[in-house]
Amino acid sequence: MAQTLVGAESQDAIIPNINGDEAAFMDSVREFVAKEVLPNTREWEDNTAFPDDIWPKLGKAGMLDMVVPAEMGGTYRSCRAYVEMCLELAKGDPALSMNVAAINALVIGHLVHFGSQEQRDKYLKRAMEGTLKLAWGLTEPDAGSDARRVKTVATPISGEEGWWQVNGEKMFITNGGKADLIVLVARTGEKELSAFLLETDQPGFELTERIHTVGVRASNTVRFSLTNARAWHTPCTFEQAIGLLYRGRLGIAAMAVGIAEKAFELALEYSQEREQFNRRLADMQSVQNMLADSAMEIEAAKLLLFKGAAMFDRGESIVLQSSYAKLYASETANRVTNRAIQIHGGRGMTFDYLVEKLWRDAKLTEIGEGCSEIQRLVISKQLLRG
Ligand SMILES: Cc1cc2nc3c(=O)[nH]c(=O)nc-3n(C[C@H](O)[C@H](O)[C@H](O)COP(=O)(O)OP(=O)(O)OC[C@H]3O[C@@H](n4cnc5c(N)ncnc54)[C@H](O)[C@@H]3O)c2cc1C
Repeated sequence: MAQTLVGAESQDAIIPNINGDEAAFMDSVREFVAKEVLPNTREWEDNTAFPDDIWPKLGKAGMLDMVVPAEMGGTYRSCRAYVEMCLELAKGDPALSMNVAAINALVIGHLVHFGSQEQRDKYLKRAMEGTLKLAWGLTEPDAGSDARRVKTVATPISGEEGWWQVNGEKMFITNGGKADLIVLVARTGEKELSAFLLETDQPGFELTERIHTVGVRASNTVRFSLTNARAWHTPCTFEQAIGLLYRGRLGIAAMAVGIAEKAFELALEYSQEREQFNRRLADMQSVQNMLADSAMEIEAAKLLLFKGAAMFDRGESIVLQSSYAKLYASETANRVTNRAIQIHGGRGMTFDYLVEKLWRDAKLTEIGEGCSEIQRLVISKQLLRG
């Protein structure tokens, strides 16, 4: 049955607060965003790249080891803390939030859940420190929303236990142009797919295109081809590998809420400064309506997001909730950033004001990790199942 937002439990039981240690961590994240992220967001976009030292800085700040249990060397934090971190990073730089969300949920999470001891020994510490740059490769030119159409083929290398040869092509891979290690989904049989660890420093890996997007431009999005490339198998089914997307979608929902919050804050501030017809924009009812709708939608998106995180932390299924959160938050981010530009008028369309960038960055949240139409399919499938 569909989850309702407010059920028999008290609101606090549905969406508990983060604990004191995590609250202190969030203070440090906000400080990091204010010092290291927000002042650089335009420059990173103009360079269409993050500086290489951003990853060790993120590692040092504890933002790359939070999905890793203590026994594997991490500081495992709640999913609630994870989504709050993604939200705050997005208020500083949405592309960075997207990268950190994907790396934690899909790459480091993959090593934790499906990596062997030997694989974790080789990669996990450096991944958490940010000295190993990471990416996640599922999408291909002919396999987008229909991820099962993956054509990249993996065949076992005889006499080399665990090692496979991979041939194919991947497209739209975040951080793919910088990554040292990619978690790669490939076909292992007519109907079977699985996931592999692929080091990029090898002759079989070739970057074929740097893809330039209208939003999240600092993210190093690429297309690459694989010709007899060597990859290390992480035994898991396609469903298991893809199952990590549920927490991933909460990360994208958090990115969307962060974008919406930042755009709302900027619009609220501007509406109180700018005067026309001898009064502030904030005193005009149409502008007040835009502000009211945005604030309400952000609150609703946040509740869906935090409920999903709380369900994850209780070990409950988040298939439905992560789609609710991602779909609603991403569409909210697009509406709110659009209104924020409207409130800024002509200035909102210039590169002098951050709202135009937030509007462009928001679009990714309706497409990446399952477009809105796929989220609606997931939701209706859950609602209609027997
Ligand atoms: C900036 C960026 C970063 C990305 N990063 C990564 C990454 O790191 N790793 C990775 O593997 N992928 C990544 N992607 C790929 C992303 O996940 C795909 O773009 C997304 O899943 C959609 O696939 P597609 O682009 O092939 O669109 P298509 O699947 O061709 O869909 C196009 C449109 O058709 C409609 N549609 C499709 N299927 C249905 C359906 N069943 N019902 C109704 N309508 C439908 C939707 O409107 C959809 O937007 C990234 C994409 C972008 C833009």
